[in-house]
Amino acid sequence: MSGNEDHRIRKIVIVGGGTAGWMCAAAMGRFLNNGYTETVLIESEEIGIVGVGEATIPPIQTFNRMLGLNENEFLHATQGTFKLGIDFVNWRRIGHRYFHPFGVYGHEIHGVNFHQFYLREAARRPMPDISEYCMSAMAARSGKFARPGPEAKPPLKDMFYAFHFDASLYAKYLRSYSEAAGVTRIEGKIVETMLNPENGNVDAVRMENGNVIDGDLFIDCSGFRGLLIEQALETGYEDWTHWLPNDRALAVPCVNAPTLTPYTRATAHRAGWQWRIPLQHRCGNGIVYSSRFLSDDEAVATLLANLDGEALDEPRKVFFQTGRRKLSWNRNVIAMGLSSGFIEPLESTSIHLIQTAIAWLLALFPDRRFLDAERDEFNRTMKAKYEDVRNFIILHFKLTERDDSDYWNHVRTMEIPESLAATMELFHTKGRTFREGYDLFGITSWVAVMLGQADWPDGYDPVADALDDSKVAEAMEHLRQTYKRVADGLPTQDQFLAQIMGRDQPPAVPQTPAEWSSR
Ligand SMILES: Cc1cc2nc3c(=O)[nH]c(=O)nc-3n(C[C@H](O)[C@H](O)[C@H](O)COP(=O)(O)OP(=O)(O)OC[C@H]3O[C@@H](n4cnc5c(N)ncnc54)[C@H](O)[C@@H]3O)c2cc1C
Repeated sequence: MSGNEDHRIRKIVIVGGGTAGWMCAAAMGRFLNNGYTETVLIESEEIGIVGVGEATIPPIQTFNRMLGLNENEFLHATQGTFKLGIDFVNWRRIGHRYFHPFGVYGHEIHGVNFHQFYLREAARRPMPDISEYCMSAMAARSGKFARPGPEAKPPLKDMFYAFHFDASLYAKYLRSYSEAAGVTRIEGKIVETMLNPENGNVDAVRMENGNVIDGDLFIDCSGFRGLLIEQALETGYEDWTHWLPNDRALAVPCVNAPTLTPYTRATAHRAGWQWRIPLQHRCGNGIVYSSRFLSDDEAVATLLANLDGEALDEPRKVFFQTGRRKLSWNRNVIAMGLSSGFIEPLESTSIHLIQTAIAWLLALFPDRRFLDAERDEFNRTMKAKYEDVRNFIILHFKLTERDDSDYWNHVRTMEIPESLAATMELFHTKGRTFREGYDLFGITSWVAVMLGQADWPDGYDPVADALDDSKVAEAMEHLRQTYKRVADGLPTQDQFLAQIMGRDQPPAVPQTPAEWSSR
């Protein structure tokens, strides 16, 4: 046995069984099934899970593939639907909308980004909306979807997608997966965290029934409370509410509209915004708002006035503070999910940040020496990832023409992080934007939000002028027509779901609260 093996992690304790806990458990079960590492997960039904978090972004497909999940089975178990992007309503100004698609706009021509040609053409003649040059946006617009298989060719291959799913069903689904992969679940409430007096590491947790659960590596998935990372280790929290003032959310399911749209909708309101996430069996909705600018009663009234159908429950309130735990990994504790930070769900990034933390934990999996080099690398990476997402979300509030409320006047005129100011300035001159290091959002995303929310650049890249005018215009029109033709030929999402779920009809949705609660 080598010296390294003597320090091997023998026991992982995951604290919490929400989305974070069970995603992590599934990954540990799948990748650390090495014969000597045991994984246990502790959760308390009495405390429950936050139970929201129903929209994702395309990299979730990688997570599913990593686990070897069958996509149809996953959609069936979670009442999932497909997502091709986000429909942003009233963000630039009331009555305006734009689409942030997954995938790409057109394709590069001679190494020049497609949007540069779009800007060039738009400087010369009236142009269709940029979304008409994107396969995902064109399919979304007409409610169409078909899964591009591994053999798919452009443009269908460029139709990137993610999922909407029921958060509680997702946790259940991953629980079955994890237990089948050897993870042990312990039900009960943790009442004490026991620290090692010499090195300050967590040695064990004590349960309400007196049982003591020890471990080598603890993964804190206990939600906003941060049971280990904060309550025991006092890691500290970086507050970002001066940039993102929303601090509350109300969530409520409602009866679905007659057709399931393959995208999330985010509608800006007077002092916050509302999400709409269609699932097979119901539609998830919620309003995110700032208590400084909107009362809870007003938020409830706004939320309920903007549902597709009858509410199926009472609105459920969630309090939060936007920001990030100063260290995601402290001593022998790694925080994932809400215990490591929270950025409002405008671009559906939290589940992705859980996935990222899992991937980096696997890439830097420690031994019982808990070397600084591994921990520091993890913390550096997670900090960069969180800050990248933070900047992209701030952009949606900063870049607006709205001046109809104190809320919008505040966010439109607030100071923003220097790094974001530099990105915006660069785009503003010639529409340039680059994906760097740990950036999650690529060029299409930045272009969609910048152009969608009001920043029409002063110029465009002069390299775009080097190509023949009429050939570029012709190629662009050809692309636009192709996307439209292909989108027209796709099935609707309802038809596609019915087909892969083995049904003749689109899913039956409950029509009344009574039908809902009897499910
Ligand atoms: C309003 C809102 C909307 C969101 N929308 C999205 C979205 O669309 N897309 C997205 O990607 N993300 C979204 N998120 C984020 C997403 O919900 C979370 O990232 C995800 O649910 C992870 O939660 P969690 O597992 O960290 O915490 P939780 O779900 O809160 O789970 C905590 C777990 O810890 C356990 N626990 C806590 N204390 C103890 C104790 N003392 N003893 C034993 N067990 C304990 C609980 O029982 C529970 O199992 C949203 C979040 C909010 C607040």
